[in-house]
Amino acid sequence: MPKRSKSSSLWLPTVAVIVPLLILAALAWMGLEAQSQAIRDEKKEEAIRLVEDAAERLARKLADGVLEFEIYPDPPVPGTTSPADAVLDGTDRAALIALRDSTDAGFSPAGLPRRVLAALRLLELDPPGTKLPPREVESLVRLSIDECPSILTSRVLEELLPASGEKDWDRWEKQARIRALLHEHPEGGWLDSDRDCRWLKASEGRIRYLDAAVVSEAIADLPLRGYMVHLSTDPTQIGRMNGALISASAPVAFVEGLKLEIIHLNPMLVDDAIRRQRKWAGGLLAVAAAVSLGGLLMIHRTLRRERQLNEMKSQFVASVSHELRAPVASIRLMADALEAEKVAPETAKEFHRLIAREGARLSTLVGNVLDHARIEQGRRLWKMEPCDLESLVADTLRVMEPLAKEKNITLRSDLSPLEVSVDAGAIQQALVNLLDNAIKFSPAGSTVETSLSNDEERRTWRIAVRDEGPGIAKAEQARIFERFYRPGDELRRETQGTGIGLSLVKAIAEAHGGSVTVESEPGQGSSFTLTSPCR
Ligand code: ADP
Repeated sequence: MPKRSKSSSLWLPTVAVIVPLLILAALAWMGLEAQSQAIRDEKKEEAIRLVEDAAERLARKLADGVLEFEIYPDPPVPGTTSPADAVLDGTDRAALIALRDSTDAGFSPAGLPRRVLAALRLLELDPPGTKLPPREVESLVRLSIDECPSILTSRVLEELLPASGEKDWDRWEKQARIRALLHEHPEGGWLDSDRDCRWLKASEGRIRYLDAAVVSEAIADLPLRGYMVHLSTDPTQIGRMNGALISASAPVAFVEGLKLEIIHLNPMLVDDAIRRQRKWAGGLLAVAAAVSLGGLLMIHRTLRRERQLNEMKSQFVASVSHELRAPVASIRLMADALEAEKVAPETAKEFHRLIAREGARLSTLVGNVLDHARIEQGRRLWKMEPCDLESLVADTLRVMEPLAKEKNITLRSDLSPLEVSVDAGAIQQALVNLLDNAIKFSPAGSTVETSLSNDEERRTWRIAVRDEGPGIAKAEQARIFERFYRPGDELRRETQGTGIGLSLVKAIAEAHGGSVTVESEPGQGSSFTLTSPCR
């Protein structure tokens, strides 16, 4: 039966703490998840707004950045030899200038405009006045023949040549490459993979294109800090990069199918707010769990103590009843026998002694129980009065002498004169309890020594009772001063007691501003010391 009440009494508070804690944790987790999702949604919306705005700006910038040049057709047929070709091979500057400026110079047999060739020849002859070095003039001619005659045979070259510089050289080269690209991609469009040119379109005799550098610059100018920017017509690529990250895309109106996608550069950063919240919530939950578990532990401990106390109380009631009944019964028996005058004079003397002893034991027991109850209820009044402690201890020893003698125990004392203010009755009660225990637990023929001394330096006095009894296990030493506590060993079964003696001694010592301590080793006897400040 008690076992069942034990488990149910602990089970209930455990469930009462653990279940709400689990529900709290689940709710907190769900709340956090919802909040995390809300933060992610908010970031996603922000990304969508950003990318839509950026796509609009980008479309405008790309439109503004379109470059173009005219396509000049390749010569339809190579020219036929004419006297002008001899001028081109010669050094006659005037003739060369005339040829360059003429409107009907025609094409050389190699298919190059004679005006251009005249201009180049003039450059060769008279490099000063132009920044174009002869080596580059040479390569220009080679390029014009080998790669893209249409560009170099254009009027652009004719117009620019006299004042040409290296910049123009770059431009011609670039135009050559772009024209070559158009041959590769005759339909033009957005060139995802080409590094020089991103967009190409040929119409109405002109090539329009977007330089890759222009596109990069336009992207770099977009207000998209913290995002990786990706511009492509390849939807699979965009899909691959999307994944679970915070990303958004919007079409760029510049070209059909072109999309601008942004992906948060640091998803950890995006999740930071979430993580911070989780940390907080985790911390709070941990604290709540710790507090609850602490509380649970305390409830467990309190319940266990309560249960132990109840068990000890029942034990106490049983002990007190026994301790009262036994002497009362023997006193009654002996008194009846004495009254009937049925005993021999020797036995009658012994009966008188026994009646006196049992009476004294009863009186100590009743005194202890009553005092214990008074102290418990805070009704015990302490009467501190000057007292000759030496006489008080000596008198108490005399009172205890018959009890000791009965067990063939020698009571020894070492007392010094001492006058202090104490509750004399209480101190005597404490000493009686200490001596009673010492005599009760000591073997016959042993000695119990009582000393009274004072420490002038510390201004304290102390009464110590040392016996040669069985001693007390270290684990029990802290508990023997608890009310009703009696160690559950053989000694307890063999000796009578109520478990309140030492708790009374402790209460009395504390009422005097002092304390009671025990020094003991199993098998080596025990020494109880009551210490109190001198008043
Ligand atoms: P009681 O003596 O009625 O059991 P006490 O409170 O006086 O109650 O003592 C509590 C317990 O302390 C005792 O049951 C005993 O186990 C132990 N004890 C007290 N004094 C001694 C002693 N002098 N020698 C050995 N054990 C002692």
